[in-house]
Amino acid sequence: MVSRVIPVDDFDLVIFGGTGDLARRKILPGLFRRFRTGQMPADSRIIGAARSELDDAGFRDLVREAVEEFGGEEKSDTQMLDQFLERLHYIAIDATGEDGWAALRDLMRDGVVQAFYFSVAPSLFGDLAERLHDHGIATPDSRIVVEKPFGRDLASAQALNATLAEHFDERQIYRIDHYLGKETVQNLMAVRFGNVLFEPLWNSHYVDHVQITVAETVGVGGRGSYYDKSGAMRDMVQNHLMQLLCLIAMEPPSVFGANEVRDEKLKVIRALQPVESHHIVRGQYEADGESPSYRADVENQRSFTESFVAMKCHVSNWRWADTPFYLRTGKKLKGRASEIAVVFKDLGHKMFEGDTARHRNILAIRLQPNEGIDLQVTIKEPGPGGMRLIDVPLDMTFADALGEDAESATDAYERLIMDVIRGNQTLFMRGDEVEAAWAWTDPIIEGWEARNDVPKLYDQGSAGPEDSMMLMHRDGRRWREIKG
Ligand code: NAD
Repeated sequence: MVSRVIPVDDFDLVIFGGTGDLARRKILPGLFRRFRTGQMPADSRIIGAARSELDDAGFRDLVREAVEEFGGEEKSDTQMLDQFLERLHYIAIDATGEDGWAALRDLMRDGVVQAFYFSVAPSLFGDLAERLHDHGIATPDSRIVVEKPFGRDLASAQALNATLAEHFDERQIYRIDHYLGKETVQNLMAVRFGNVLFEPLWNSHYVDHVQITVAETVGVGGRGSYYDKSGAMRDMVQNHLMQLLCLIAMEPPSVFGANEVRDEKLKVIRALQPVESHHIVRGQYEADGESPSYRADVENQRSFTESFVAMKCHVSNWRWADTPFYLRTGKKLKGRASEIAVVFKDLGHKMFEGDTARHRNILAIRLQPNEGIDLQVTIKEPGPGGMRLIDVPLDMTFADALGEDAESATDAYERLIMDVIRGNQTLFMRGDEVEAAWAWTDPIIEGWEARNDVPKLYDQGSAGPEDSMMLMHRDGRRWREIKG
């Protein structure tokens, strides 16, 4: 199968924080992949802007090393890499002072798409927005890309939105949630809205429940001090899991347009009921031999922050009235696996004599590993011996089905950056969505803080605290196994 590369318009992309971890690991290697596929027009440029005193040559060296360290098979294409590096420029700039801004203004060109990626600490977003405006760099058509975290509660998200709104219209602001850039997540919408099979069944009459799991094997890594102030609820649920829930639960938009999709997602968030405290389980991982505990990792022996959370939620509308949504996410779990499972109801009637098993159709959307979708169906066990039924997956692993295309599939970041250049906001969070998500999350976190809620301890390499199993068992359900 031949990839179709749709060229974009010429652009100048400025990456504030261009020397930072995210830029080196994701943004710059991703842009090289886009360049290599021919998607970056000849006249386009990438301008790194950060605090380090580098020149163009120094920045190009840094990017070459980043591609060599974090790139995929494309890094061996040294000829293309040399050509790519020629498109790179660098300006040493201070987000909080005046250094470098005049030079940036002189470098920017009229007549091309201008995008500014804020890959810096959120505390600098306001400074950048203000200086881009005050130095006459941003135009009414410029776009800004902002990274997570977008606030730590409703009040801070509102303040951040207000700060950005002083200088940029909503149509210019691209709030990244890289989960939305994943191939499978978009495929979820294609499967739902591009097939006649699923939509008639996509409701409380047929769907027993939905499970969303984002499991990590890693701990907090070097992000301990940030993570301990955040926790799984703020770091994962308020944004990534909530976005996945929205895509499952939303009504079909009339067209696949940015505001139409986001309007529908917003309605889902607003329809989420407050979560009762006994429907949430928080956890913290324990020490395991050589491997330190969460508290040791974050260097805070009194920490009550959760590295795991599981919860049962309800979307209060006609479609989902009786269908619970179970969410769970955590660190140091038994596998690195992200999955959405739509579990359909049992058949009401059993017509095959002797078959006592509970057969269910399950549509599982795997985000990692092996991105793909599988549909569990019930069939006759092959061979003689009567009508014995078994459940088998109709597996559509993209790498198998699409061959090379899937393997070279674009990473979430590069896809989203190209959407910015195209001016397509569909896969970016709108300000009101982010605020609504915080408005739902805040009371949960405030409840924990008010009663000094202590997270349950769980073993590293497990599926989380025992109580999270009980959350399901009480309802006669169980979590799917964490594989990966
Ligand atoms: P980092 O600390 O590695 O890099 C920060 C960058 O900002 C550096 O290039 C630094 O020079 C620049 N910078 C700092 N102060 C500056 C100033 N006053 N003026 C100009 N430049 C300045 O951070 P990071 O991990 O790359 O994260 C960047 C943003 O991306 C943060 O908002 C973070 O929350 C978000 N994010 C990061 C990751 C990740 O995996 N690293 C993942 C998701 C979101």
